[in-house]
Amino acid sequence: MEMTPSDPSSEREAPGVPTPARLWRAAGRGARRPHLFRHWAEVAARLRSAPRIALFLDFDGTLTPLRRRPEDVVLDPATRRRLADLARHRRLKTWIISGRRCADLRRRVGVKGPTYLGLHGWEGSARGHSRTPGRRLLRRAKAWAARALGSTPGIRLEDKGAIFAVHYRGARNGDVRKARRIMARLMEGFEPALWMLAGKKVWEVLPREIAGKGEAVRAILARQPAGTLAVYLGDDTTDEEAFRCLPDAVTVRVGRGGRTRARFRLRHPAEVRRFLQKLESTLSC
Ligand SMILES: [Mg+2]
Repeated sequence: MEMTPSDPSSEREAPGVPTPARLWRAAGRGARRPHLFRHWAEVAARLRSAPRIALFLDFDGTLTPLRRRPEDVVLDPATRRRLADLARHRRLKTWIISGRRCADLRRRVGVKGPTYLGLHGWEGSARGHSRTPGRRLLRRAKAWAARALGSTPGIRLEDKGAIFAVHYRGARNGDVRKARRIMARLMEGFEPALWMLAGKKVWEVLPREIAGKGEAVRAILARQPAGTLAVYLGDDTTDEEAFRCLPDAVTVRVGRGGRTRARFRLRHPAEVRRFLQKLESTLSC
């Protein structure tokens, strides 16, 4: 099945009318992406004309600022209200997609309406209902990592069930370099059955069947009505695969610096909250 977002290149342009094709040329294809609000008129035109909108939102670093300890992250009540406002619009459907466990994500966001997808899109999706693959291998890999890294200051292993994470926020640079070598050695022993995803101050080890956010988003869009416009906001390397899978979507990398495949940028979660408000106003017109 083909992906459903409309193809901007297929739309005719008239002078002065902001078409998607014109928008994407304006956005450019370089590493430095423009600020989303500078192009809001064009984006709003696409949002208004789309028969359906599929909104994908990452959580940590996108809807909320990052914290040293992930368990300390709390969603701003104003952002929660914006998400609840959006849930009233029948033309738009929201998915919140994160590396966290689904139950944790649902509890922290606390809004009825969005679909919650944990473990980079595996938990909460149709495929995630099948038996989690590679459990025995993952257990062995995790035990190996715990033996090699467990006593390193600032490094913490997190068991997420179907995957495990090695957090290194707070570790000294020398220890991070050593840990990176250890993780590379670990993967040599377990690839291709397992693979590693590098995020912000975290490495995650996953069974091959859990393919990440790009594959999850692609599968969801394949089930949406024709003409659905995808909008994806994320802050991390784990979101880049989704940006890559959505060449015609409104994709937004949150945060400063770094190369990205997204079309636009927003600087921080407070701007994401403003975006949600602008989106709601646009849909209400
Ligand atoms: Mg994130």
